[in-house]
Amino acid sequence: MRPIDYTAAQDTKGAIEKLAARPADAVAIGGGTNLVDLMKIHVQNPALLVDINGLPLSDIQEVDGGLRIGALVRNSDLAYHPLVRERYPVLSEAILAGASPQLRNLATVGGNILQRTRCSYFRDISQPCNKREPGSGCGAQGGFNRMHAVLGTSDKCIAVNPSDMNVALAALEATVHISGPQGERKVAFGDFHLLPGSTPEKESVLQPGELITHVTLPASRVAAKSRYVKVRDRASYAFALASAAVAIELDGKTIKDARVALGGVGTKPWRSLEAEKALIGQPADEVRFKAAAAAALKGAKPQNDNAFKVELARRTLVRALSLAAGIA
Ligand SMILES: Cc1cc2nc3c(=O)[nH]c(=O)nc-3n(C[C@H](O)[C@H](O)[C@H](O)COP(=O)(O)OP(=O)(O)OC[C@H]3O[C@@H](n4cnc5c(N)ncnc54)[C@H](O)[C@@H]3O)c2cc1C
Repeated sequence: MRPIDYTAAQDTKGAIEKLAARPADAVAIGGGTNLVDLMKIHVQNPALLVDINGLPLSDIQEVDGGLRIGALVRNSDLAYHPLVRERYPVLSEAILAGASPQLRNLATVGGNILQRTRCSYFRDISQPCNKREPGSGCGAQGGFNRMHAVLGTSDKCIAVNPSDMNVALAALEATVHISGPQGERKVAFGDFHLLPGSTPEKESVLQPGELITHVTLPASRVAAKSRYVKVRDRASYAFALASAAVAIELDGKTIKDARVALGGVGTKPWRSLEAEKALIGQPADEVRFKAAAAAALKGAKPQNDNAFKVELARRTLVRALSLAAGIA
């Protein structure tokens, strides 16, 4: 039995002080749906849990035509918020495509952004995993890797970022707002998660003692016509094999603006500027959608069990673009 200390913070400053005082072994707990799971299987072993649920970070506010979303907003509340459904439908669809109603009622925005990979080697402490134990090796490479990434991989790690919500936030060009011992800072969503490279244990730019306080979404014309398509092994309660978050603004039949991000295939939420470039200024038809999908997967590096994901992701993206353009 390992003792664990627990403390409930009352405000952001207090939470940061408690986290910063024990940078090596303190973690924040939001909904706990990911963290507690990982503690039960000894993958994460914090000695101090700082409960942040008492912090005033549960509001969704309209700011400058965009949205400010507190880090403690529950996934369900965000997905069903009228402004999200109207202006950023891809975010609502992505959240509702994930987990189960019970989990979404508890899971928070901050926790969802930071949820850990579902790689079975990461989640099994008898297996080598560079992310869990740097230098121990990667069991997935040469192992069973049907669910693993084909984009953004390295020789140290091929684990997928599993979040559906993150794919939508990448396409919507969200900003992550952080507070920590050194003050406040903000990071573009595309820069928040890190590629594994030679340090897969470092998953984001968040430093010890720092908290996500909120996320902002810019006012966006393109987001109004946005969709999320997720393909998985069963119709619900399963992680993505491939998913696509897209937004399209049309001028007649021409694509005036576009956003594209992929899930289930990348080591981080995968915005594809290449696909966007292939779409903007072109007619909204299947030929261009296929060209964009080819561009998005151009750098894919499949493993022995997951080559199917390359074609699956292409088709998922074409389907999402067709739905967003209203031609499906
Ligand atoms: C059975 C099951 C199925 C699931 N299926 C899906 C799915 O299909 N798609 C999907 O996207 N997700 C799925 N999930 C994952 C689920 O979405 C996450 O567990 C959830 O979003 C995590 O949120 P949380 O608030 O519970 O995080 P926690 O467990 O509380 O925290 C997760 C991590 O974030 C850190 N953290 C939390 N809040 C903050 C903050 N404000 N600042 C800094 N650090 C913070 C914690 O320290 C911890 O490291 C599933 C989970 C389960 C258990």
